[in-house]
Amino acid sequence: MTKRDYYEILGVDRSADDTTIKKAYRKKAYEFHPDQNKDNPEAEEKFKEAAEAYEVLRDREKRALYDRYGHEGLRRSGFGGFQGFDDIFSSFGDIFEDFFGFGGSRRGGGPDQAYRGADLRYDMTLDFFEAAHGVEKEIEIAKHVVCEKCNGSRSERGREPVVCSMCQGSGKVTRSQGFFAISSTCPQCQGDGVRITHPCKNCKGMGQVVQKKKLMIKAPAGVDTGSKLRLNGEGEPGRNGGPPGHLYIVIHVREHEVFKRHNDDVVITVPITFPQAVLGADIKIPTLDGEADFSVKAGSQSDSLHRMPGMGIAHLGSYGRGDMIVRLVIKTPEKITKEQEELYRKLAELEKSNVRPHYKGFFEKLIS
Ligand SMILES: [Zn+2]
Ligand SMILES: [Zn+2]
Repeated sequence: MTKRDYYEILGVDRSADDTTIKKAYRKKAYEFHPDQNKDNPEAEEKFKEAAEAYEVLRDREKRALYDRYGHEGLRRSGFGGFQGFDDIFSSFGDIFEDFFGFGGSRRGGGPDQAYRGADLRYDMTLDFFEAAHGVEKEIEIAKHVVCEKCNGSRSERGREPVVCSMCQGSGKVTRSQGFFAISSTCPQCQGDGVRITHPCKNCKGMGQVVQKKKLMIKAPAGVDTGSKLRLNGEGEPGRNGGPPGHLYIVIHVREHEVFKRHNDDVVITVPITFPQAVLGADIKIPTLDGEADFSVKAGSQSDSLHRMPGMGIAHLGSYGRGDMIVRLVIKTPEKITKEQEELYRKLAELEKSNVRPHYKGFFEKLIS
């Protein structure tokens, strides 16, 4: 399911402060307010969408969650948006109070203004190796496309829209109130300046229909959680001949049990035995490119780090790769045989290290 980006919905950039966000929401809420848009399901949808975006972006915690994990992150944390208008009004009542008492602002632009389509956001989760090596994946998005029956004109073929009789095509009406002349969106045409007399049946007069679209996404080697891919022109279509928006693919990478990523370096922990640490050993270790030889030097310490240059993750957008860092950990055996115990005791004696004497088990006590 494709949801629009919250910042895009409110038309603010990602660093916008609280005041800017509140202002932007007020503007949208006014524009799509149900009192202004009677029986207009599209406006209703936009009104709810803006409320949801505002609910998230005004809340520090939700906003941080959204910035990091997108819509999916919010969904997992239990945020479900709003059920209906009452829900929205009871949450943000204060925002609406001074809307309709005294004029208010007209929605900007005018009837013939071309609008660029909205950007869309799609959250894509990749496995560690898919991100490390790059991957091509097919995704399906649902978005508005221009209705092909009416070419976006909203009218049945051969039927021209008529100029709105209330505003004479200007999209706004002016009335005087005391000393003021107040101009507001024409209630008959919602600011379009024209009236559709025979709405296209395919799109119900909207000019757009929702369509599912499959897209091949190429994630290059080295993408990480938070990486963004932009697909130009794959967002929502523009209005009045405006260009379409973009589709942003936001990447999330699953953690790997063995390989831990630190920027473009990869750290793996390799267990070795005490004799291997003391005497040195040639062992096999896993790398991003498959199994590789690794030489444990005689006298290796537990928790020591060994760098393998150029064996890490590809640098995104430039040449070369990060490093692989091997962390050696000496594994102490938890169970040993009698013979091993004798050898360890002998070693302790040689090293003059104080160890606990042999513990006689129940059966040993019986037979001795
Ligand atoms: Zn009008
Ligand atoms: Zn149509």
